Amino acid sequence: MANLASLNPAPVYPFKTKALGEIKFRPFTSAEQKALLIAKEDEDEDAIFNTSKAMLESATFNKVDINKLYTFDMEGLLIKIRSKSVGDELKYALTCSGKDCGHVTPVTISLSDVSLSQAPQSNTLQLGDTLFVVMDYPRVESLAGLKPDDNEGLMARCIKTICKDDEVYPTSESTEEEVREFVKTFSDSQYDIVFDYLQACPTLSYSGVHKCSKCGKEHKSELKGFNSFFR
Ligand SMILES: [Zn+2]
Repeated sequence: MANLASLNPAPVYPFKTKALGEIKFRPFTSAEQKALLIAKEDEDEDAIFNTSKAMLESATFNKVDINKLYTFDMEGLLIKIRSKSVGDELKYALTCSGKDCGHVTPVTISLSDVSLSQAPQSNTLQLGDTLFVVMDYPRVESLAGLKPDDNEGLMARCIKTICKDDEVYPTSESTEEEVREFVKTFSDSQYDIVFDYLQACPTLSYSGVHKCSKCGKEHKSELKGFNSFFR
């Protein structure tokens, strides 16, 4: 039997990730786009995340361990593939916040105006006189099975090493539960230090000003993170 699919090879593009270096991808097929649209219509965030992940695995020729990518690598890759698949424009509806207006204006932004926010200056956080933790940015696998408000869980998964006095404790040698027990010992200020670090990790962001087409009121539009770009 002839391999008819081979008659229509997809173009291949490079993409630089922070976690895994340069990888290669192809645009999404029409069938893959549809699968993502269906997941989006259901507004099921787990389904959107899992469908996106499965699509990324195929689009990178099953050669990239998507779980090991940083979450911002995954966001960046999705946006890049989207711009090669359906184009560079992202449309959304701006609802006017003007008094008695509420008019809905269609807004188009260019994906090339979306950029990665600055990373925190250091991955080493001082929690006490002789207590330090070395952090890793959240990876795709860090979010798996974690409730969105489970900050302790995310902290436990992103602490790479604990240093106390002259001893070094790589968390890879402990269970997740043991690291979670360590996080539970944090004081409020220690918790804030680690929480602030995670909040400051790079994420895709866009900001621009758009006018309501009815009353002319200017709105500052800020989009941040995965879900804002895939709705
Ligand atoms: Zn208006």
